[in-house]
Amino acid sequence: MRYRFTSILMAFILAGMHAAIAQHIPSPKEHFGFTIGDDYQLANYTQTEAYFKKLADASDRVKIELAGKTSEGRNQYLMIVSSPANLAKIDFYKDISQKMARAEIDSAEARKLSLAGKPVVWIDGALHSTELVGTHQLIETFYQLVSRNDSENLRILDNVVILLFNCNPDGQELVADWYMQYEDTLQRNKSIPRLYHKYVGHDNNRDFYMNNLMETTTISRLQYIEWNPQIIYNHHQTAPPGAVVAGPPYRDPFNYVLDPVLITGIDGVAAAMINRLNLEDKPGYTRLAGSVFSTWWNGGLRTAPYFHNSIGILTEIIGDPTPMNTPVVPDRLVPNNGTPYPLTPQKWHFKTSIDYSVSLNYAILDYASRNGDQLLYNMYKMGRNAIKHGTEDFWTPKPSTINKIQANYDADKAAGKVEATPVEQSSRYASRDNIPVSYFEKVFNDPSLRDPKGYIIPSDQVDFPRAVAFINALIKSGIQIHKADAAFTVSGKSYPAGSYIVKTAQAFRPHIIDLFEPQDHPNDFQYPGGPPIPPYDAAGWTLVYQFGIDYDRILDAFDGPFSPLPIGALQSPPTATVSKSKGGYLLDGRVNNAFVVVNKLLAAGIKISRTTESVNGFPAGSFYVPSSGKKILSAADSLGVQPLAVASKPKNLAVIKPTRIGLFDYYGGSMPSGWVRWMLEQYEFPQWTVIYPQDIDAGNLKDKYDVLLFISGGIPSADGSQAGMRGSAVKEEDVPAEYRHMLGRFTAEKSAPNVRAFLEAGGKAVTVGSSTNLAYLLGIPVTNALVDSTGKPLKQEQFYAPGSIHRVYADTSDAAGWGMPAEVAVMHSNSPVFRISNASNVKPLAWYGEENPLMSGWIWLPEYLKNGVTAFAAPVGKGMFYAFGQEITFRAQPHGTFKWLFNQLYKSE
Ligand SMILES: [Zn+2]
Repeated sequence: MRYRFTSILMAFILAGMHAAIAQHIPSPKEHFGFTIGDDYQLANYTQTEAYFKKLADASDRVKIELAGKTSEGRNQYLMIVSSPANLAKIDFYKDISQKMARAEIDSAEARKLSLAGKPVVWIDGALHSTELVGTHQLIETFYQLVSRNDSENLRILDNVVILLFNCNPDGQELVADWYMQYEDTLQRNKSIPRLYHKYVGHDNNRDFYMNNLMETTTISRLQYIEWNPQIIYNHHQTAPPGAVVAGPPYRDPFNYVLDPVLITGIDGVAAAMINRLNLEDKPGYTRLAGSVFSTWWNGGLRTAPYFHNSIGILTEIIGDPTPMNTPVVPDRLVPNNGTPYPLTPQKWHFKTSIDYSVSLNYAILDYASRNGDQLLYNMYKMGRNAIKHGTEDFWTPKPSTINKIQANYDADKAAGKVEATPVEQSSRYASRDNIPVSYFEKVFNDPSLRDPKGYIIPSDQVDFPRAVAFINALIKSGIQIHKADAAFTVSGKSYPAGSYIVKTAQAFRPHIIDLFEPQDHPNDFQYPGGPPIPPYDAAGWTLVYQFGIDYDRILDAFDGPFSPLPIGALQSPPTATVSKSKGGYLLDGRVNNAFVVVNKLLAAGIKISRTTESVNGFPAGSFYVPSSGKKILSAADSLGVQPLAVASKPKNLAVIKPTRIGLFDYYGGSMPSGWVRWMLEQYEFPQWTVIYPQDIDAGNLKDKYDVLLFISGGIPSADGSQAGMRGSAVKEEDVPAEYRHMLGRFTAEKSAPNVRAFLEAGGKAVTVGSSTNLAYLLGIPVTNALVDSTGKPLKQEQFYAPGSIHRVYADTSDAAGWGMPAEVAVMHSNSPVFRISNASNVKPLAWYGEENPLMSGWIWLPEYLKNGVTAFAAPVGKGMFYAFGQEITFRAQPHGTFKWLFNQLYKSE
């Protein structure tokens, strides 16, 4: 009795204390010492993290969860904000959101749950750390949501589950500390010396179908496995000149694999956002053709949601803690559909941008609070449609399919097989032929043009660990994968147990189709015959092509002894078994993970060689490991590289040694170089150093390095231009002494001769993408293949090849191409293509064939590529220069072309 009384009393006291604490929500000013948006003031992540926790402690409207760790080891939190009553049964709402997203219930239950549930809205900030408005609006929005008691805020809390997330804590710490280090406010700047994500900077928003990075993996898990938000709002900066903020709806092209309800769903949210700004007298919103953003590309934090039936919203806003003046842009001053309420020139303060962002957040939350059941049900309906399209025969209406209708008709007409029957001329539409419906039906009844019902990834392929890595990228994005428990046969072909099956009859079908099928980008020009409109990012990226793995497209319904894998559970390749072998072992040089194993062996001092001819069915370039390597091989068995025991040491081996690698970078940081830095760590290359222009200019490179890597960027072209280099405008006196060694640029006059001396002394240089400019600076006898008949570089109206996947042919006998297949899918992004003069000793490593090489994406006039050389090796003195014009390490995605880099990272004795 007494115990009971005490506990009631305690509960009463605790409740009272809680209420007393809850009464006071500390404002940003109390915590940070300034109001969010004050001129010249930034919060770093350490301060912000403490504030997030403080608010979570003080308010019963928040549940805070540790969601993951960042690349630099900081904590990354998810803040779940809603009414206390909603938070008390948050798992119930989370479960409903998941059920709507997966769409495996019937429509009656979906109707019921849509009324019982609450929409989930994701709002983030800080993904791009120099985009300071995004970082700081998140803090202010969090404060307002937990502290305001007006009717709108309470309605939102009652009706919406809000997820707040800081996407890149590491970058916030770097940029805020950098900006605030200067006492003099006028000296404060964002010219940080390195990338604001440890490895990839801005490309942290290019990783959302691949999920290489820790932060991406966490975000994808929260979005596609756990919470399935109906709306995902991703904050960015900056707007085009003359506008304040660019946002939805977005321009064409929109991706034809997306559900129409998704596109009109964006419109609904967008209208609420623009309306609110207009009503609040906040001009300067631009949309549609007013900005460059489309809904074509997958892979960004805003765009990957589309392929999961989630409404992705991106805004790009102006603003800086250092006040600025908005420019006069006459083109934007007349109201139109793109910019309904133009901005007039004015002095612009950070606080105004924070206010805009908070308004936009509240516009979305208000919309969600009023339309929650529709948002939930619409997501379900999109998922249902996807399941239906993956179950029944379905023809995705894409340009190449649709063009067949016209082409078939035109051919028949030309052959006199069909009589032209012009539609009667109307007053508004030009006359055109009345194409008989049979031409439509012929295409849309052609079974060979149907979408696949699924894909099979056989477990008996040469590099199965690579296939497992591909499967894991899908699993991280919430895709349901099946695995075969036993051998089976589909369409007359036998597959072994352990094969993976990806069925398209699931809610996230658009994502699956997107990663397995070519992107069929439309020809998109400013006007007929005019310059192309560049895609917002890549035009084509088909991940299964980039991986170069074996798989089959299955057009008919199929089944087998398949078990569904738990959603989100990552797969490992089958563990290798290492038997005793006196003669040693062979590791297949085609298997990417073999390089990890070899690097472990080399680190342990085991002597490793490569075969120079085919041995026991393993191609030239496979690795020979002596019997002393057994312990290391066994310890690395989880990598799935199956060693082949051999009776004796093979003949004609080339001993390999690790190399000292210099990886070129520059002040501000190169993203392609950062991705390779990430890859060198993942594949356990031991001895690499990041080097800067000053290191090159200091000379004596051969004393320090065996291989120099120049990965896209920072090398001037032969005409001296140096496009794409960041941080080159930084003044030395503004940079603290410890970072000054990173300043400077690679020059034709001083740096290139030092690289030449390095090569002549026996060094190797590997250049990728635009860094192949170095070939011209070194006078290697190659020329640009992309020129007109007079030798002038082609204009974009003549030839255009944005980010897309091309087919090239590889020399697999040269050591540079060991382990590569003869036909390679490679990422091309306006990449250099070469011609080699006949008399030279330059050796082509990869080249185009006679045919149109486009596998996925867009090429305007592919004829120019015919027989062009895309990669070559050239001896310089005792050394060797390698050029890979195409993006063989593109965002660490193309596992199919990694070996073109890895092969060059050893030296032979
Ligand atoms: Zn951004």
